[in-house]
Amino acid sequence: MLQDYPNTQLFIDGEWRDSVSKETLEIINPATEEVIGKLSHARKEDLDIALNAADKAFQDWKNVSAYERSKVLRKAADLVRERADYIAKLMTMEQGKPLVEAKMETLGAADSIDWYAEEGRRAYGRIIPSRAQGIYQFVFKEAVGVVAAFTPWNFPLNQVVKKVAAAFAAGCTAIVKGPEETPASVAELIKAFDEAGMPKGSLNLVFGIPAEISEYLIPHPIVRKVTFTGSTAVGKQLAALAGAHMKRVTMELGGHSPAIVCGDADVDVAVKILSANKFRNAGQVCISPTRFLIHDSVYEQFLDGFIKKAEEVKIGNGLEEGVKMGPLAHDRRLTAIEEFVADAVEKGAKIHTGGKRYGNKGYFFEPTVMTDVSNDSRIMNEEPFGPLAPISSFSSMDEVIEEANRLDYGLAAYAYTKSAKTAQELGSGIESGQVSINHHGLGLVDTPFGGVKDSGYGSEGGPEGLDAYMTIKLVSQTGL
Ligand code: NAD
Repeated sequence: MLQDYPNTQLFIDGEWRDSVSKETLEIINPATEEVIGKLSHARKEDLDIALNAADKAFQDWKNVSAYERSKVLRKAADLVRERADYIAKLMTMEQGKPLVEAKMETLGAADSIDWYAEEGRRAYGRIIPSRAQGIYQFVFKEAVGVVAAFTPWNFPLNQVVKKVAAAFAAGCTAIVKGPEETPASVAELIKAFDEAGMPKGSLNLVFGIPAEISEYLIPHPIVRKVTFTGSTAVGKQLAALAGAHMKRVTMELGGHSPAIVCGDADVDVAVKILSANKFRNAGQVCISPTRFLIHDSVYEQFLDGFIKKAEEVKIGNGLEEGVKMGPLAHDRRLTAIEEFVADAVEKGAKIHTGGKRYGNKGYFFEPTVMTDVSNDSRIMNEEPFGPLAPISSFSSMDEVIEEANRLDYGLAAYAYTKSAKTAQELGSGIESGQVSINHHGLGLVDTPFGGVKDSGYGSEGGPEGLDAYMTIKLVSQTGL
């Protein structure tokens, strides 16, 4: 076992502790397939302690002024920043992404905490003029209550911080069911909040069997808000359970982003930006460009450029200098990606580069470029979540907008054009939570991030991300 990767315990009621049952899970480094650590595994007894602690802490934290809450959050942000090198290294060891990406994510987490520290101070209500004299109508925003947050392994810190920084700024307390594959970096984030002065019990971190935990927490009367990031299939189950118990939800689910390159686009810029973002985090990004739709007139130029970029990607252990793409995060993804490729090839796809596992140790998969991919291939319909780029051509705007909107997903879309008219047409015509034109500008904490259709419900980031943790109360009164 490596010395510098810690075992991870549960954090419940202000203490790091083993689960009541003492059960543990193994953590595997996806670049080496070695077991690097152990993770404590929660059962219902642990969840009960966390629920009661979060409920008790909420009664106090909701009454702490937004100003005082912001001071605690700012301190947590500073601690994350100070420890960024260490946290990033843990993330690379457990998740696989290159160290540079892990460090950016860690610094981004600190930035998100700072942003919500400030935004929480501006959660203004309003006064509405009354129809009758002498009546005052006040609208207050109040913290929702205890939050159950379920977060995945692809961005271990980012997925947690967007939820808990907003929840804490709003005055909520939380139980986070963290990602079992990547727990140590998440634990460091929680440690920073704790050391910054979050009250005992206000933040609890558990791991275990995801379905067992969600089925217990979501219906529980103490939990008032459910937030989940993960696949559409699981999101629908959790949203249904939350609906049956009338819990508020935010659902950040899967995507299948069209990337459209028009005939008048700067093709070199499109190739550079789209290839970098396709292979970032080995394609395990919900807003990864996924269906490449290229105008006939620039198709060959784009394809040649993209293949070249894919072949240049340096694959390896994310801890090594210069590595641009690490392994897939776990063995399930390797199998899934192999199946996507085999299915596409069986239905007539041509592989231009990549298409297979890289090496025989670690869950590496080659950056893959495919053409002639039939629309009934699985990859053209299901979220691939891997380094696969199916590239096809189009000839008219109507055709490309129809293809962009063909699926039930609607998370992100990308387009490249020099025409303001075309940009406007795509911006309004594509059914998506966000559309990025001539650049890749999505997902900062200042701006709302969320999907439409099967990609989810609600937003993280921006003032909308704070509102997700607040309820509205109208108080109307007269002097007597
Ligand atoms: P998965 O669907 O089993 O798990 C995805 C995430 O959801 C994991 O973090 C998991 O712990 C959690 N989860 C699963 N079942 C749950 C349940 N019943 N209750 C609570 N949480 C639950 O799949 P996976 O193999 O880990 O990932 C595969 C797919 O998940 C990908 O193809 C992708 O579509 C999706 N995914 C999406 C995101 C995202 O950012 N939107 C992140 C990770 C995974």
